Amino acid sequence: MAKRGKVHELHKNNFAFLGLLKCASCGCSITAEKQKGHNYYRCTRKKGLCQEKHYLREEALTEQITSYLQKVSLSSQDAEKVLAALDSEQDKAREDAQSEVSVLKEQLSRVEAKLQKLLDIYLAGALSTEEYAAKKQSLLSEKVSLSEKITDFETKGLSWLEPAREFVKSLNQAANLLSSPNPSAMTTFLKNIGSNHIVNS
Ligand SMILES: [Zn+2]
Repeated sequence: MAKRGKVHELHKNNFAFLGLLKCASCGCSITAEKQKGHNYYRCTRKKGLCQEKHYLREEALTEQITSYLQKVSLSSQDAEKVLAALDSEQDKAREDAQSEVSVLKEQLSRVEAKLQKLLDIYLAGALSTEEYAAKKQSLLSEKVSLSEKITDFETKGLSWLEPAREFVKSLNQAANLLSSPNPSAMTTFLKNIGSNHIVNS
């Protein structure tokens, strides 16, 4: 058993692309072996039928990954432009939200003034208790709905902006991987962006 464990450990360390990549045809994990000094990868075919029949040499796999990275990579310069555009999008959205909130706050203070006035009128004896209660109820629900809208504007923010930023950064990371190739960093990158289905023999 001890020997077996050791073999398994060696196995993993020797094959850079093992463990994270999946078969492009059937989604099974891929396996690897060494033959005549070259590393070969193939589908484990655990689900039975799979169109991928052949072993793929590590060099060919590296080429596939490199060409994929070339397709998705974004230079630092371009990444900065996109990030700047996202920043100004955020500023604009924040300004819009602020002016929206100040309009709502004005409406809210008018409703509060009306409530105060209503109470004065009631206390002066000009309204019956029923009239007062009905009018007060309608003003109160107006107040609640305005407060809810204000909270919405103040808290919702731009939830899509952060994922967008991370995505742009990851595309720039692809460019960095191309300039200094590193199999395990490549594999991790592919996994992170959800593109670990890549083995085509
Ligand atoms: Zn397969």
